[in-house]
Amino acid sequence: MKQKHFLLVLAFIAILILAYYLNADHKMETPVPVKGYLDLREWSFEEDGMVSLSGEWAFYFDDFLEPDLDKAHMPKAQYVLLPSNKNTMNQVKPFDENQFYGTMRLVIDLPKNQQIYGLKSDIVLSAYELYINDNFMGSVGQVGTNKATSQPSYKILNSYFQPEQNRVELLYHTSDFYFEDCAITAPQIGLADQIVRESKIGIGRDLFLFGMLLTMGLYHIGLYVIRKKDRGPFYFGVFCLTFGLRLLIVGERILPSTVAFDFTIYSRMAYATVFIGVGALFAFLYFTFNELFPRGYLKGSLYLTILSLVIAFLAPFMYIDLWIIPYAVIGFSLMGYAIFRLIIGVKKGTAFTGWVLVSFICIVLTFLNDFIYEITLSNRASMIPIGMTVFIMTQAYTLSAKFSKAFASVEKLSSEKEALFLEMKHVNANLENIVENRTRDLREALAEMDLMSKTDYLTKLPNRRFMFQKIEALVQSEQDFFVAIADIDKFKIVNDTYGHDKGDVILQDLSERLSKAIGDSGFVGRWGGEEFMMVFYGSDPVRVLRIANVIRESIASKYNISIHSPVTITIGLCAYSEGITLDAVIANADKALYEGKLGGRNQCRLYRL
Ligand code: GH3
Ligand code: MG
Ligand code: MG
Repeated sequence: MKQKHFLLVLAFIAILILAYYLNADHKMETPVPVKGYLDLREWSFEEDGMVSLSGEWAFYFDDFLEPDLDKAHMPKAQYVLLPSNKNTMNQVKPFDENQFYGTMRLVIDLPKNQQIYGLKSDIVLSAYELYINDNFMGSVGQVGTNKATSQPSYKILNSYFQPEQNRVELLYHTSDFYFEDCAITAPQIGLADQIVRESKIGIGRDLFLFGMLLTMGLYHIGLYVIRKKDRGPFYFGVFCLTFGLRLLIVGERILPSTVAFDFTIYSRMAYATVFIGVGALFAFLYFTFNELFPRGYLKGSLYLTILSLVIAFLAPFMYIDLWIIPYAVIGFSLMGYAIFRLIIGVKKGTAFTGWVLVSFICIVLTFLNDFIYEITLSNRASMIPIGMTVFIMTQAYTLSAKFSKAFASVEKLSSEKEALFLEMKHVNANLENIVENRTRDLREALAEMDLMSKTDYLTKLPNRRFMFQKIEALVQSEQDFFVAIADIDKFKIVNDTYGHDKGDVILQDLSERLSKAIGDSGFVGRWGGEEFMMVFYGSDPVRVLRIANVIRESIASKYNISIHSPVTITIGLCAYSEGITLDAVIANADKALYEGKLGGRNQCRLYRL
């Protein structure tokens, strides 16, 4: 997270906290009930707002005072500081464990001007009846003097009244035979429209948050259903849904005013939703920042959650109350540890840890605030809705940022893939070209090597090996032919006289001329040194001898290289016939040649059997 964003979030949180405490300060000078009496004659409800009736109330233990009792003969009262619970009441007047019923009373002097007032009664033990100036105003649950007749309920009671004089008497009959932790919170008095507005705003706030939590919860669980690999969203969804449910139970108690489950169920659910929600929050952190949290963190919070849920649903009610302190110690330690790990994550630069850290600190602070408010029963506003809003908003941002990031990287990957693909295609096409070129070169080289293996390097005539192949082919195709060996006469002298290089030139020139001269009548190759082999097609010795002589003469007569003496050749011939080996035919041609040499050179001799 960028520093700028970080500061923005911090500033936002600071403003929220400041606003909250400024608001709280405003109510500091509110008059406080003393010995069951509260003087509000100078109080301006219009300007100073509603009044929380926390202070000393008159208590009449084990007695439901008649509302229209003669005020001059009231029994002796004892005084209990509200908000209170059974423990603090017990210190004033000990009573058997969980066996309480009685009356609480407060006399208020209101300002002179007659107005319509409202009274908001939250929890007054587990059942109560309210009388204002002797008039029955309503009840929550059923009060009774024993367990059988006392029926607990978990609602808020808003009452409206217009007193004839400025003095009003609030009388609560209240009873509880069930719950150790059962509390009496201070009722609130204000103008009727203030109470109405307060409730409306409360209900609006609770429903707004519930809607937000429900949407985010279902959205995240949907994300998990589609992509089970990532369990972070699932636990975040569970966190949202459980706290969403809790919002409907506590606060303005929207659910209890609509659906009449008994006090126990709602109380247990109020606890259970905290246990599940906080557990899910830990699991969310663990799965979202897997590399930051050890496995033990998940296990620890899981055991804590399971144990707490068992207590919340199965244990006698007093144990839940006992459990809440160790639970808070362990829970806040786990939260502290999570903050520590997230700070490490921020330092390491783990993605999104900054946002989650800030919003998590925010929600932990509000948890802490509400926990203190819960155990002290002080009349402070619950901060959890604020913390929850910040946390959810931040999460919504983090989530969308995460998705955008993922999409961006997918886009980048696919464009990279495209580029890579094009490059591969290019390389492939090139490769084909290269292979084609190489193959052609190789083919050419092979052809050249083949030619070289068949050709004499100096004269470019077929060499001795190739001559054998060609003759072999003639034999195979059963053609008649003559083999002739031609040898240059006295070539040693030519070499000696004009030099070896000149000799080479003569050899080349002679080869060309022999090749031309033989034409269609046969073919010629270099046999070795200054010797050539000629093959003449046909079986007629006279014709072949004549052709051989024509060639011989053409060499001798038409030689035009500027040397002193003419270059002549002697030719020995032998006919091939079936049954004679090629070697024998060649040897015979050689013999004829030898005879020609002996006979004076520059002549043709046919070998005769
Ligand atoms: P004859 O008439 O008896 O054949 O006499 P000659 O000198 O031709 O015979 P000899 O066998 O004594 O000599 C052959 C000469 O041919 C020897 C050698 O220097 C020459 N010769 C053989 N091959 C080549 C060649 O490739 N280039 C050149 N310049 N001379 C060659
Ligand atoms: Mg020779
Ligand atoms: Mg020779």
